[in-house]
Amino acid sequence: MLQAAVHAVYSLPPDKLVKAVALAHARTIAYFGGTAWTIFVLWLLVRVRLGPAIRDLAAKASRKAWAQGMVAAPIWLVVLVLIGLPVSLYMHTVNLHYGLSVEPWTMWWGDFGKSAALTVIFGTIALSVLYALIRHSTRRWWLWFWVICLPVEVAAVFLVPIVIDPMFNHFSPLAKTDPALVQQLEKVAARGGLHIPPSRMYVMDASAKVTGPNAYVTGFGASKRIVVWDTTIRKVPQDEILAIYGHEQGHYVLHHIQKGMAFSAAVMLAFFWFAYLLFTWLVGRFGGRWRIPSVADWSSLGALLLVVTVLSFLADPVGNAFSRHIEHQADVYGEEVIHGLVPNPQATMSESFQRLGELWLDLPDPNGFVVFWTYSHPPTSSRMRFAAEYDPWVPGSRAPKLVK
Ligand SMILES: [Zn+2]
Repeated sequence: MLQAAVHAVYSLPPDKLVKAVALAHARTIAYFGGTAWTIFVLWLLVRVRLGPAIRDLAAKASRKAWAQGMVAAPIWLVVLVLIGLPVSLYMHTVNLHYGLSVEPWTMWWGDFGKSAALTVIFGTIALSVLYALIRHSTRRWWLWFWVICLPVEVAAVFLVPIVIDPMFNHFSPLAKTDPALVQQLEKVAARGGLHIPPSRMYVMDASAKVTGPNAYVTGFGASKRIVVWDTTIRKVPQDEILAIYGHEQGHYVLHHIQKGMAFSAAVMLAFFWFAYLLFTWLVGRFGGRWRIPSVADWSSLGALLLVVTVLSFLADPVGNAFSRHIEHQADVYGEEVIHGLVPNPQATMSESFQRLGELWLDLPDPNGFVVFWTYSHPPTSSRMRFAAEYDPWVPGSRAPKLVK
């Protein structure tokens, strides 16, 4: 049977293109400029010896090192949150301006306050453990800290959808809001040869804050779930919802959460080792000038945050390359799993990328370096081209199938 050629080229109408270009510029400035700004301010604060000043303050409260951390760590974490504030304000202004966000400022400040509180609370716990390990062994702390981080990471992935996410958005069972859609999604699950109970499908009230559609997979073990934003249900035709859901089911079936945890464990090990080398060198070389007697002293915390900021920036392309890889796999799976459920999977997929790209104002031809460094997903243009052309069921095709 001959089918009409599927549109493979992602493009934006002129008015949306102008907005997409401006938005991409703003994001690039916010990311690279924001990183440079954070590094500059932290370096300045270390140079003017804020670290020893905070340590002296903490030493007045207690002579015990762990108790000093209860003073020094929260102060530095608040400083870090405040350094990031201008960039966050700028990006929310931009997102409101281009209509991607509809979140009122009062609600935005509420969210900012909550995430700042989480940063200070969990950051203080993490830094207390870290400095206790540094005091225990100035040579091996990075390894012990990594060992402790492994179970913490598993627990965090398990708990985030149950404890943290509901602090920022409202979730309800999809079966309650849209039972007809659940029936359709169960067909996709059955097509993939698995049973995902409806109790693991949730709808999130994203429309209170954003305009674009989305869905995602989160959690681990008993907390593993698929979340569809209510914006998706409102703005996307049903066949395309199946395609989006098929992609998420791909993450679920292909164990991307577990693979992601294993990958980040490996990256963390390298990260902590580099942090150890750089931190030790920095304090050894400039400790005299900055009045930091040793890495184990709380006066070194600003220098540590500086090291972590630089290394996080350098680690971003590594994490994003991995993410783009699994996102592509989920695209492949998603397109295969709707085969037989929608008349033309290629058309459904490519139309959904066109729609999502327009709603999110995705740039048709993003800068290659920016993609390499900051994109967690392949550019919409390449996802759409792939979707339009990919068909492992075409006779003679040698494309491997993820879905039988
Ligand atoms: Zn995905």
